[in-house]
Amino acid sequence: MDCEEMCRRIVLALDGELDAPAEAALDAHLEACPACRQFRQTHATARAALRRAASYHRAPLSLREAIAGALPGAAVDDEPRPAVSAPPPRRPVARAGRGSGWFFGWRLLNGAGLVAAACAAIALAVLLPQRPSADGRLAEAVVAAHARAQLTGHALDVASSDRHTVKPWFSGRLDFSPPVRDFGERGFSLAGARLDYLERRAVAVLVYRHRQHVIDVFIWPADETAQRPPAHTLQGYHVLGKTASGMNFRAVSDVEADDLQQLVDLL
Ligand SMILES: [Zn+2]
Repeated sequence: MDCEEMCRRIVLALDGELDAPAEAALDAHLEACPACRQFRQTHATARAALRRAASYHRAPLSLREAIAGALPGAAVDDEPRPAVSAPPPRRPVARAGRGSGWFFGWRLLNGAGLVAAACAAIALAVLLPQRPSADGRLAEAVVAAHARAQLTGHALDVASSDRHTVKPWFSGRLDFSPPVRDFGERGFSLAGARLDYLERRAVAVLVYRHRQHVIDVFIWPADETAQRPPAHTLQGYHVLGKTASGMNFRAVSDVEADDLQQLVDLL
């Protein structure tokens, strides 16, 4: 047995996939071969480090379908399943001809190939930074600005529930005029407003109170292509938004998402 075959078996053995005779042969080889012992040590260490440090990422259905599509006779269900299935029954000798390609392909995929694919997928999931979408980054900025205002006690530049006080306060401070309304009779009372800074521009923030919670509504002019943004939940804060009357709205708070949606619908 050559060392290349032994290294392949070491990978299988670490996954508990080697049958007893093959494992005995491997052990005998390892006794005599420092290079293969070194390989096993390195591989086991890397494997343990991945298990310890890697976060679990569910493969998207499209990836699972693509892998299943490449395997003969495999079906995709929606349940998580082990990355590597049980070893195929051993066949005495591969026949030459049409069948052998399939046979070796299956063996390869089921053994080292699939292990390597799983390792690559884990490595990609761990190493690739999670890149939020543009709207995700905006939601992060909204949450950061909201949390900063709460922590520093600088939630309000102007404290008033009167739109005739709040709306004029913005003029001269912004190059647009945000719509200002109080929804006190609907459970969302206007507490006031402040200026904030979002995506490299000054924006209006209307501050509402709902029971014990503070809701910030960020407002700035929208371009025509703006669509209804997806909802985000970050660090316990919900971010909901919409575009209406030429303005972008993003509401952020730790209230229930349903309550926040009520306010967004009123805006
Ligand atoms: Zn060896």
